[in-house]
This record gives sequence, C-alpha cells and structure tokens, in this order.
Amino acid sequence: MPIKCAVIVALDPVLVRIETKLESLGQWHHAQSLRHRAATWRGKTRELHAWVQTLIEIDIQLREVVQRETFLRDQVRILTTKGEMRPTTTEERAQLGAWEEELGGLSKDYWQQERQMYAVESRCPGGPFLGGFFSYRRQQMWFLTEWMTADCAGRGGCCGRGCGCCKRPRSTTRARRFKHCTAMCGCYDTYSRGLLKGYI
Ligand SMILES: [Zn+2]
Ligand SMILES: [Zn+2]
Ligand SMILES: [Zn+2]
Repeated sequence: MPIKCAVIVALDPVLVRIETKLESLGQWHHAQSLRHRAATWRGKTRELHAWVQTLIEIDIQLREVVQRETFLRDQVRILTTKGEMRPTTTEERAQLGAWEEELGGLSKDYWQQERQMYAVESRCPGGPFLGGFFSYRRQQMWFLTEWMTADCAGRGGCCGRGCGCCKRPRSTTRARRFKHCTAMCGCYDTYSRGLLKGYI
C-alpha cells in the first residue's frame, strides 16, 4: 500500500470520531461532506461514482413502478366504483383487464428491481463511503433536502405544486414508497401530460 494511502487509512478512526461528533451537534451535512472528502482522498472515485450511478438508476426504476402501480390501482378503483352504479361498457371491461394485466407485470418488475437493489447495496464500497451511505439511510425523509426538492420542482414534479405527493407515502403496500416524482406519478397525468416528456 502506498504511504499516502496508508496514512489516509490510518486516519480513519480519527475522522469517524469527528464525523460522529458533527452528527451529534446536528451538523449532518458537514459530517457527510467530510466522509465524501475522505472517500475521495482514498481514490477510486470512478468506482464510487459508477456504484452510485447504478444505485440511482435502479432507484428511478423502482419509483416508476411504485408510482405507476398506485396510479393504476386508483384508476381501477374509480372504474370499479362506477361499475357498481351502472353496467360497465365493453370498453371499460377491456380497459380493466388491460390494467390488471399491467399491474401483474409491475408486481414482477418491483420484485426483480428490489432484488437488484439489494445486490448493488451489498456491494457498497467500504471505508468512509460506506459510513456516508448508512448515515443517509438513517435519516428520515433525507430526500426532502432543499436541493432535491428544488430539482423535483424544476423538473415539473409535485414539489412545485401544492399536492404534497413527495411528502406522503406513495403506496400502502410497498416498502420503497417515498421519494420524488417520476413521469409515472399520477399528478403528472392530471396536471401536465405531454409537457414533461422525458422527465424522470
Ligand atoms: Zn408527482
Ligand atoms: Zn402530486
Ligand atoms: Zn418532489
């Protein structure tokens, strides 16, 4: 191990103590910033960024599945309620069948992507980066930071509206039910279909 690298690794316990102290003082962002710097000093930034990129891609796919699933379940409920008040048309029955089929596919997608997410998370690079990752996970609603909220609003998501979708659970059944909008959010359909093409 090169000397520089050995010194950085030897400093780890000291850095961990400083990070813990910062967190206990409520300075979580500073603690995370220090972890990020410590991870960068160790090198392998390309590897770290690749890992984060993979995680983000799976996270987006999972959010899309959950948001589409919720939207379809709402549509099924609305149409079924209508059907209790009057006979359903042939088109409505066909639509219900298509939605049920899509819901079945989404359920499989969710299962596969969750397994993939678990596999990627378990390959989290060690050292300060791992500490930073678990610290993020411990923060309740960490994704409601100012910049992520502004990013969601800027992309035309619900953080730019008064509906509050990003602050509420998006599903009653899925473990991964929080976070910001994708194009599959029901409000996307209600407010601005067509305007947000390509939005993720
Ligand atoms: Zn939304
Ligand atoms: Zn909304
Ligand atoms: Zn949002």
